[in-house]
Amino acid sequence: MKILVTGGNGYIGSHTVIQLINAGYEIVIVDNLCNSKIEALSRVENIVNTKIKFHKVDLLNKEKLNQIFEDEKVDAVIHFAGLKAVGESVEIPLHYYNNNVVGTLNLLEVMKNNKVSKLVFSSSATVYGDPHTVPILENFPLSATNPYGRSKLMIEEILRDLYKSDNNWDIAILRYFNPVGAHESGKIGEDPNGIPNNLMPFITQVAVGKRESLAVFGNDYPTVDGTGVRDYIHVVDLAAGHLKALEKLVKNPGCVEYNLGTGNGYSVLQVIDAFKKVSGKEIAYSIVDRRAGDIAACYADPKFAKEELGWEAKYGIDKMCEDSWRWQSQNPDGYE
Ligand code: NAD
Ligand code: UDP
Repeated sequence: MKILVTGGNGYIGSHTVIQLINAGYEIVIVDNLCNSKIEALSRVENIVNTKIKFHKVDLLNKEKLNQIFEDEKVDAVIHFAGLKAVGESVEIPLHYYNNNVVGTLNLLEVMKNNKVSKLVFSSSATVYGDPHTVPILENFPLSATNPYGRSKLMIEEILRDLYKSDNNWDIAILRYFNPVGAHESGKIGEDPNGIPNNLMPFITQVAVGKRESLAVFGNDYPTVDGTGVRDYIHVVDLAAGHLKALEKLVKNPGCVEYNLGTGNGYSVLQVIDAFKKVSGKEIAYSIVDRRAGDIAACYADPKFAKEELGWEAKYGIDKMCEDSWRWQSQNPDGYE
């Protein structure tokens, strides 16, 4: 089976491509490199010991995208490509809507023209907004609090409408919780531009001496120790969920949504402790005000994905910290 992977050079895409190739899928990557380095591709090729077909193309370039579909004759698409920084999305919302929503519309039209009807889409737990209770089930109400989240929610709605209009489509919407960790080789991992927005890359950069101290955003939430609780999931587990979703699409499920999380919540201080334990590094931190838009606690009920996909996360917080640290300590400046 031949799979076109948009955003396949990014953090989650690169980890997924490795597993797809190891499972015998043929791969074509489409990525404009706006948030990834070509070095990541060389490292993935080195890990799988195969040359990978790569097109440096923007999803906004519909003609080029269509040409790739005409030439490659793919069976299914995994769609990772998108911009993902919440704060930046508030500053430049039109850019986010254009890239994420218009990019996806182009992809869907091109898929339709070329009679490709199987799609796995990267959504996010952010579409649950501020949930009334945790753990979060797939049928909880959906909402968004920033343009990034709204772009994901809009795309989800577009996909559901598309399926209603034509039930030949098979679409798996995967709602990721908090991806962390890296490939066990230490050769690929998350390489954020500038100051990391997310907790784990910030911690690893403090540990490696690139940043002085972590700002912990609030310790007055109604959680175990007052700091925010999230469902961190190892990127290798997350990648495996995409292979299970592809297997599901072959059975013509229609348009389906799955949480990809572990079901376990960890507070910021618990993550710092776990990281200290596996790395032996002290993480300097100070408590500061809450970050605007943050919620107290967010973790998945992952049962539906287990029942329907036969998928569940295997790795715990220690392994997540260990692999994040291996990547960061072996590559202090990321792919540079
Ligand atoms: P990433 O930025 O590392 O990867 C995305 C890739 O898409 C990059 O290589 C980028 O160059 C490419 N891209 C972006 N816009 C494009 C366009 N218009 N045309 C072609 N390529 C384009 O991000 P990631 O962490 O791997 O996330 C992958 C997907 O998962 C994204 O859609 C993201 O919103 C979603 N997601 C990520 C997280 C997370 O915390 N990492 C959580 C939930 C959902
Ligand atoms: N967080 C923090 N300091 C940081 C980055 C994040 O205290 O520099 C906290 C944040 O408030 C949240 C948790 O860590 O409680 C996870 O944040 P992240 O941005 O990684 O994920 P998201 O908030 O999108 O779930």
